[in-house]
Amino acid sequence: MDEKLESVYWNVQQRNPGETEFIQAVKEVLSSMGPVLAKYPKLAEQKIIERICEPERQIIFRVPWQDDRGEVHINRGFRVQFNSALGPYKGGLRFNPSVNLSIIKFLGFEQIFKNALTGMPIGGGKGGSDFDPKGRSDDEVMRFCQSFMTELSRHLGEYTDVPAGDIGVGKREIGYLFGQYKRISNRYESGVLTGKGLRYGGALVRTEATGYGLGYFVQEMLATRSESLEGKKCIVSGAGNVAIYAIQKVTQLGGCVIACSDSSGVVYDAEGIDLPTLKQIKEVDRLPIEKYVETRKHARYQRGGNLWEIKCDVALPCATQNELTGKDAATLLKNGCMAVAEGANMPTTPEGIELFTESKIAYAPGKAANAGGVATSALEMQQNASRDAWTFEYTDRKLAHIMKDIHDRCLATADEFGVPGNYAQGANIAGFMSVADAMQAMGL
Ligand code: GLU
Repeated sequence: MDEKLESVYWNVQQRNPGETEFIQAVKEVLSSMGPVLAKYPKLAEQKIIERICEPERQIIFRVPWQDDRGEVHINRGFRVQFNSALGPYKGGLRFNPSVNLSIIKFLGFEQIFKNALTGMPIGGGKGGSDFDPKGRSDDEVMRFCQSFMTELSRHLGEYTDVPAGDIGVGKREIGYLFGQYKRISNRYESGVLTGKGLRYGGALVRTEATGYGLGYFVQEMLATRSESLEGKKCIVSGAGNVAIYAIQKVTQLGGCVIACSDSSGVVYDAEGIDLPTLKQIKEVDRLPIEKYVETRKHARYQRGGNLWEIKCDVALPCATQNELTGKDAATLLKNGCMAVAEGANMPTTPEGIELFTESKIAYAPGKAANAGGVATSALEMQQNASRDAWTFEYTDRKLAHIMKDIHDRCLATADEFGVPGNYAQGANIAGFMSVADAMQAMGL
C-alpha cells in the first residue's frame, strides 16, 4: 500500500477499534486501490476513499421478545446504511449469535462494491441481530421478527433501504418481517424487502440466485482457461441456501459435488451429493447434516472435520467469513485445485487470498462471484415497481447474463489496471469506480 492509502487505513483502524472483520475488509479493498489513485489523483483530493469507509448511518437497537415459556429475552439489532450513491441501501439481514457491529460493517462495506458490480441501481447496507433462530419454534421466530421490525421499519422504505435475507434469515423470517412492516406502515409496499414468498411479491429464481450465480461465474472462469465444469470434482462448504443451489447448478453444469458441510461436520459422498436428501434435512427438517448418511448409507460423515483437505478441482466456500485459512489454501493448491470462487462473504483469510493470488489459479472474491443473489433482489424490486411477475426461464437468463457481465468486467478492469487475471483487484476497482463516479457527481 502506498503512503496515502496507509494513512487512510491507519485512520480507519483508529476510528473503529476492535472491529477486526471490518478492518480486514477495508484493508483488502485499500490494497487494490494503488493504481486507481495513480490514474485519478482527483479522487484522493476529494477523499472519496475515506468517505466510502465511513458508513452514512449506523443504527443499533434493542429487540425484546418472549419465548414460548414466557421468558423475556433481549437481543441487539443492527442496520448499517453504508452508501447510497447508486440507489437505496440494499443488503441482507443476518441472524446469528456471532453478529456484532464489526461483522455487520464488514458485510455492509463489501455490499457497496458488490452491488455496484451488478450494474443495478442499488446502494450498500447490511443488518441483523445476535439472535439465534436455531432450535427456536416458528412462534418464537415470529415474535422476534415482529419486535425487530417494530424498530427497523422506521428506517426502511422502497426508496430508502431494502433488506433481504442472509445467514439465519430465509423465506420464513422475511414473511414475518414483511407482515409486521405492512401492519405498522399500513402500506402494501412490496419493494421494501426482497426474498419474499411468491404469493406476496416474491420473484422466481431469488431463492436459487446466489448459488446459481456462483455456478455461472465458475463456468465463465473455467472457460477463460479453456476448461469447463464437465467431470470436475467440486467441494462446497456450507449446507444453507447458497451451498444448496450452488450444488444444484454445478451438478446441472456437469460437475460432481463430492462434499459439503455444516457447523457440525463434513459429509463426503463419492457419487455426488444427493440434493433431495440434503434439502429435506436442511430446508424442511432443519437438522444437522449428520442425518445425510442415514439415507445415503455409502456416504461418510466426519464430526468437526476439515472439508478443505478433500482433493478437488474446484472449491466453493459457501459458509461464512474466514472459514478458509492460509493453511487450507496451501492444502487445496497442493492437491491440484484449479479454481476457487466464493459463495460466502469474505470466506478466505488474507493469508489464503495471498496464496491463491500468487499461485495464479482462478480465484474469485465473493463480491463478484456471489453477486447473483443481490442482483436478483434488484430484479425482484423491478418486478415490484412495475407490479409484474416474470417467468423462471426469463429471470434465470437475466441472472446468467449479469454474472457473465460481472465476470468480464472484473477481467477487463484487471487488464486495464495492469493486473491481468486478478479477479479480486478487478472487482474492487470496478465496483469502486462506479460508486466514486456517482459520489463525485453529487458533491460533498
Ligand atoms: N445477503 C445477500 C448478500 O450477501 C443478499 C442481499 C440482498 O439480496 O439484498 O449479498
